[in-house]
Amino acid sequence: MKEEDKIFILENNLGLLDTSYYEEDRIEIFNYFQRKFETLINFNSEIYNMNPIIFYINDKLTCNAFAQRIDNRNIIGINQGYPIMMSSKFTNKLFDDIIFTAFLNDKDVSDAFADLYESNDFQFSEYMLDCSIEFTFYHEFRHIRQFDAMHGKSNFLLSENFSVQEFDFRKHIWEYDADKSAAHQVVLFVLSVHRKLGYKSKGILKCLLFSALSSLIITKYLFYFGLINQINKPYKINISNFYTKKNWHPHPEVSVHNLFDSFNLAIEDGLPHLDINIQDLLINSLYIAKLYFKILLPNYDVEKLISENMFSHIDEANQYNDLLHKYALTDSAIKQLINNIT
Ligand SMILES: [Zn+2]
Repeated sequence: MKEEDKIFILENNLGLLDTSYYEEDRIEIFNYFQRKFETLINFNSEIYNMNPIIFYINDKLTCNAFAQRIDNRNIIGINQGYPIMMSSKFTNKLFDDIIFTAFLNDKDVSDAFADLYESNDFQFSEYMLDCSIEFTFYHEFRHIRQFDAMHGKSNFLLSENFSVQEFDFRKHIWEYDADKSAAHQVVLFVLSVHRKLGYKSKGILKCLLFSALSSLIITKYLFYFGLINQINKPYKINISNFYTKKNWHPHPEVSVHNLFDSFNLAIEDGLPHLDINIQDLLINSLYIAKLYFKILLPNYDVEKLISENMFSHIDEANQYNDLLHKYALTDSAIKQLINNIT
């Protein structure tokens, strides 16, 4: 971290994390996240020719990420709880168990799963965590671009913790737009992983796409079920009731359907030769997410849990997404981002 950025964070009392008394294992986790976010910031600031964005880890213990603007300085931050909680929920053990039980309905994809598992260049848990980090970064980055598009001098703060806050329709629209943009970027990330792995098979690419989407669903549902900040097992679920026009963030059921739709659009537009339809996406990514939650929550009926909390308000969720989409197209900041071809 640059010295001047550090001074800025300290002067504004933004809660910079001091790791000097932490054990090495934990510092390593923080460094992993710090590196990932900084690399993504440098890469994207250059592409969009933006003013420098500060990245820092906040000392709060809950799992959270945020985008902030103070005195014309853009900041992307994560709480220290984010690396700790995310890495404890994306462990090798959890994902190794999935690989053993995963038989996806498409034989090519099922075989690809086995091939990936045996590959020395690929670690499933790391890939799933990376997809989730990419999503979080691009979500926050889109908020920074929304702030920039406002051309004002106002300060902003948008944080991602899923908690009860006063309803603001414009915030819902910006969250919808940030999720859409981030989902698109995760598809591009999948392509870059696929390219680096050097396989030419369609099955591998499909497997990577389904897994990436399931990583995003898992992340949303870890928040939705109130699991993300729990340390002690057995985990207990705590679900929030469905709503549309309430709180800062759209309800997770609304967001998940937006993710399915955004992922599907990105694949249809960029990878038509794969011939994946939304039904394939839904079945396969949900299947992986269900396996994950079955291992994480052995005392719950996960099938019931997911069907009751992902599809119980599907029509309302989709209608609300349609409404957000319609208003997003008229929002001055988003309109500008779309016109600049983002
Ligand atoms: Zn957000």
